[in-house]
Amino acid sequence: MQSSHRDGQSLTPEGVFKLLQEGNERFLNNPHHGRILFQIWQETEARRKPLAAVLSCSDMNISPELIFDQSMGDIFNIRLAGHAVCADALGSVEYACASLGSKLIMVLGHTHCSTVEAACDDISFGSMAGLTERLRLSILAETETLPEGRHSKNKRFVKNVARQHILRTMEHIIQSSSIIRELIEQEDLNLVGAMYEIETGKITFMGTDGRQMLANLFPKYARQNSHW
Ligand SMILES: [Zn+2]
Repeated sequence: MQSSHRDGQSLTPEGVFKLLQEGNERFLNNPHHGRILFQIWQETEARRKPLAAVLSCSDMNISPELIFDQSMGDIFNIRLAGHAVCADALGSVEYACASLGSKLIMVLGHTHCSTVEAACDDISFGSMAGLTERLRLSILAETETLPEGRHSKNKRFVKNVARQHILRTMEHIIQSSSIIRELIEQEDLNLVGAMYEIETGKITFMGTDGRQMLANLFPKYARQNSHW
């Protein structure tokens, strides 16, 4: 595998395309890779059921399979900047859970998130409006930091906003999808939130889950399921 210590800014689009083409040649011609991948392919072909649907952020520098020590095919990945839940992302989550049988949805944020940092500095352009608006609401939900500290250079503020954004994304999924609500109600599915600490590799889980959120946001479910 090539080192990632390359300055992408100094490359041309053609140069990046060539790097990817060469990488695929190495991938195809590396017997070590080939053997491992064949074994993994046999395992995943037999199963074809992703255990979990993971919504993570596009600028996270590691894949969920590596963080959670899972194999190819175990995780149904939806990766968008700021783990955005647009209609198509939500449709992908519903497909993973209702059709492929995933038992867990995870909203996975991370520290040092450039997308959150951009929102903290009110940076938005082009088609980012929907994403920016969702992040703006997460910024408003952060009430600990005084006005002078509400910018991307304040790492504590950025981390607090990232945490709020994970919780708000979880709530958004519950509020937007009756399919997911019903699967959670039937106890065939749960939803959790997590923060990946880039500095250490440690995952910190949020202190709530989909069942608690469902009971809080839709009390009728709590009445129907008093054992929660
Ligand atoms: Zn990010």
